[in-house]
Amino acid sequence: MPQGIRSLSVWPGPQRVNCCQMLIHPDAKGHFGAFGGRFVPETLMPALEELAREFDAAWADPAFRDELNGYLRDYVGRPSPITEARRISEETGLHVTIKREDLNHTGAHKINNALGQCLLALRMGKQRIIAETGAGQHGVATATACALFGLSCEIYMGEEDTRRQELNVFRMKLLGAKVHPVSSGTRTLKDAINEAMRDWVTNVRDTFYVFGTAAGPHPYPYLVRELQRVIGDEARAQYLERYGRLPDAGLACVGGGSNAIGFFAAFVPDANMRLIGVEAGGLGLSSGQHAAPLSSGSPGVLHGSYSYVMQDDNGQILGTHSVSAGLDYPGVGAEHSYLKDLGRVEYVAATDEEALQAFRWLAEKEGLIPAFESAHAFAPLHDRELLPAGSRVLVNMSGRGDKDMESAARILKL
Ligand SMILES: *Cc1c(COP(=O)(O)O)cnc(C)c1O
Repeated sequence: MPQGIRSLSVWPGPQRVNCCQMLIHPDAKGHFGAFGGRFVPETLMPALEELAREFDAAWADPAFRDELNGYLRDYVGRPSPITEARRISEETGLHVTIKREDLNHTGAHKINNALGQCLLALRMGKQRIIAETGAGQHGVATATACALFGLSCEIYMGEEDTRRQELNVFRMKLLGAKVHPVSSGTRTLKDAINEAMRDWVTNVRDTFYVFGTAAGPHPYPYLVRELQRVIGDEARAQYLERYGRLPDAGLACVGGGSNAIGFFAAFVPDANMRLIGVEAGGLGLSSGQHAAPLSSGSPGVLHGSYSYVMQDDNGQILGTHSVSAGLDYPGVGAEHSYLKDLGRVEYVAATDEEALQAFRWLAEKEGLIPAFESAHAFAPLHDRELLPAGSRVLVNMSGRGDKDMESAARILKL
């Protein structure tokens, strides 16, 4: 099927369909089906409405798009290539191609979103940036964009995470950001988001909250999806150009869901292509020690949005576990919840052990060292029931493994 032509009749689509691109668009209040919305304190409502309005205006403005595209090209290094993985293809009987978000400046897809939101902050005249971070990757990407644009930057990070990711704390400081360790709750990402929201409520006039994933209250799930859509738009065009057809399946890891939704968005209208999201199975779904709300959670409210979450019978958010800090989150973006219930995307989980095996496998067989998060997306390539021999698959490698070398050395003991 030539590029640009899509079978408009095959996938019926949700509430509103953009005629040319067939992208899912949330309703005015940010609902993807039953999911999404805005469950926030009253004081944040005007700020979220302003953000939605300003983003829509910027996104429709060719000058804003040109400026962002210029930075993505000359600063981030886009387009990232696709790479055919010959040796793992041979071993699995699949035809495997990899989208290389690991080659972006700062080492992952997160910079696409951070740059876009910081440019929007500039356009809105907000000089103070705040952000949350878990492992530190979104904090580093945001601090990087702030240094580039001369914005002041404050990052909220769980105290536990500042200890686990000392090097990223140093990176953020080197880039001129102030890092606030958060000592409430479990002292991890969930608590850092709560604290960043508290800051935003207090300083909403001059402050822009750069949210790190496609979750949270509207418009973030939509806004972040749009800023990450460049991944799938590029990959689809590159694949068509190289192979003259689309893959049978696309895979991506799912934490909050930004790399996956940015990658899937371009392919959602391609009804014959399977889309598979891989969550963090931790020590196994039956152990309860995981971070897989779509595979074993239920709908509930977390961080301002109605979506699948990991919760107990009383709606209390459960603790999570994953070997990869970037997937260690009890919630997920609203659009993923919607795509799951529609049956358009299949969600599976890979355990810590399966992800670590895939991590070594990719290094030894392809000379590629993925982030622990990204390694999850490769784990299902061993599953011939999920992916029959002969399938053509395109895997999004969301980031590179440099940040995980210390943990890997400790765990793998080569
Ligand atoms: C943060 C991160 C993720 C998880 O976040 P999503 O919003 O689900 O994409 C995945 N991969 C890498 C490399 C990350 O840094």
